[in-house]
Amino acid sequence: MENILEIKDLVVSYGIIRALKGVDMVIPKGKTVVVLGANGAGKTTTMRTISGVVKSVSGQILLEGKDIRNKQPYVIAKRGISQSPEGRLILGGLTVEENLRIGAYSVKSKSNIKKSFDQVYDLFPILKERKDQQATTLSGGEQQMLAIGRALMVNPKVLLLDEPSLGLAPLIVKDIFQTVKKIAAEGVSVLMVEQNARQSLLIADYAYVMELGTIKTHGTGDTLLKDDALISAYLGKKKEKPSAAAEAKADEGAAETSAAEEDAADEGAADNPE
Ligand code: ATP
Repeated sequence: MENILEIKDLVVSYGIIRALKGVDMVIPKGKTVVVLGANGAGKTTTMRTISGVVKSVSGQILLEGKDIRNKQPYVIAKRGISQSPEGRLILGGLTVEENLRIGAYSVKSKSNIKKSFDQVYDLFPILKERKDQQATTLSGGEQQMLAIGRALMVNPKVLLLDEPSLGLAPLIVKDIFQTVKKIAAEGVSVLMVEQNARQSLLIADYAYVMELGTIKTHGTGDTLLKDDALISAYLGKKKEKPSAAAEAKADEGAAETSAAEEDAADEGAADNPE
């Protein structure tokens, strides 16, 4: 399978703090890759180093085989890597449409800008409905959609998403993750940092778990979801097995939801009260 992005032995320091100690990652074309890990593991540093905001000490960041490591952020953006940062950074005094237009700042062709608007409004119809609304008056979920939409306005090859589920209610998170999957299916490769482990693993083609600046483990989303030891050690406690009575009751009329999805919804509810 063709890889759009390859990160090799990446080392990053903030002064005497070594934040990345030789990180390797591969992002295949048109796939969703999730990065998990505890606070301070180096997830955001990885994203910011890819987008050129943070400079690295050594290693390689290959975009379609060409090293972009330590290039200026605008050069990296021009080559096709677009980031939706943690915290969304929506421009408050502007409308939804103006925010999206700013996302397309580097695109000269009017027809390409129009195509991007169509694509974003197709992915997030609510943004079209709200296009003349002040961006700050959007709900948290809509603001997240706007942040992702804005990053898509340059028609990127790779989309970097830093914690898109932050502070959102579980159902909205599910919605956003499904759209992320759709974006990847349309050919944009996605690298997404997440705290919402179970739910993001449900849509991940591949995932990396970071710990103290290194890759602790990696595998397909399915494999990591089934790895009980990993789930309890790194991704939160596993749910207790329900009693026989509770299981029988659930069997009576419950909608068909996989155990993993139930876990995800529960975890989202606990982690992301809105
Ligand atoms: P979180 O989930 O809390 O956002 P993270 O996995 O994204 O954590 P990073 O933000 O990449 O982790 O931080 C990795 C390490 O680098 C941490 O020890 C952090 O304290 C340190 N660090 C991050 N940014 C800076 C900075 N600007 N100056 C100094 N140290 C930093």
